[in-house]
Amino acid sequence: MEAIFIVVFALLGMTVASFLNVCMDRLPSNESLLFPASHCASCHHRLAIKDLIPIFSYLWLHGRCRYCRAPIPRRILGVEIGTGLLFGYLYWHYDLSIELAVAALYCCLFIVLMVVDLEHGLILNKVVYPTMAVALLISVFLPPSKVAYPGEAATLLFNTFLPEPGIAQSAIGGGIGLGLFLLVVLISRGGMGWGDVKMAALIGLVTGYLILVALFMAVILGALVAGSLLLLKIKRRKEGIPFAPFLSLATIVTLLWGSNILNWYLGLF
Ligand SMILES: [Zn+2]
Repeated sequence: MEAIFIVVFALLGMTVASFLNVCMDRLPSNESLLFPASHCASCHHRLAIKDLIPIFSYLWLHGRCRYCRAPIPRRILGVEIGTGLLFGYLYWHYDLSIELAVAALYCCLFIVLMVVDLEHGLILNKVVYPTMAVALLISVFLPPSKVAYPGEAATLLFNTFLPEPGIAQSAIGGGIGLGLFLLVVLISRGGMGWGDVKMAALIGLVTGYLILVALFMAVILGALVAGSLLLLKIKRRKEGIPFAPFLSLATIVTLLWGSNILNWYLGLF
């Protein structure tokens, strides 16, 4: 039975991914998400249902438009596969629960932020601000520490030293993210943008105290990837590397395993 649900959720993820792809295509250029209907970016031919089946359409058409043979961005396929796998895993991780819905929603929003920054070097305020409001609202009913399952050590730490109500966790997390990244922007003078500051605040609202795990992981991940790209001469020092993808990835990992990582880290001492 479990396996059937995992497959159902993976399929749901692939379908949701089609909408996420539309968001990634249209949000940066202020187009409406609903009109016009899906069309080829190259010949503007309206796409039929058979062109829009996640993953299968892409493979069937060998990654090209049915009408003009223009290549379909590989990102479309990547987002469909990635979101499908993630949704299947999310079901396995959370089981059928309100936490599952919340985690899936956050994952979708962070996937959009990740890809848009990769492709356009933009962190979209129209995604970040509404997500902040939603995260605060959710925290009233479902504390961040419930979504990112705290293990024993983390729970003890949180309950002993830190306030419990969800909205307090969320607000304190947001404050920590905002404060730390403001500091980084002021010190690095342009090394990091205001978009990253807003995003750090958002991640705090979503993850609560685990913001520290998320930011720590994002910085290490970013440094490793940036270092390798420089070493391999794929990027030059001046080009700059978008940071939102690392922040997004670290947030998703923190939602799923943040408390385990924190427990492991605390266990080192
Ligand atoms: Zn076309």
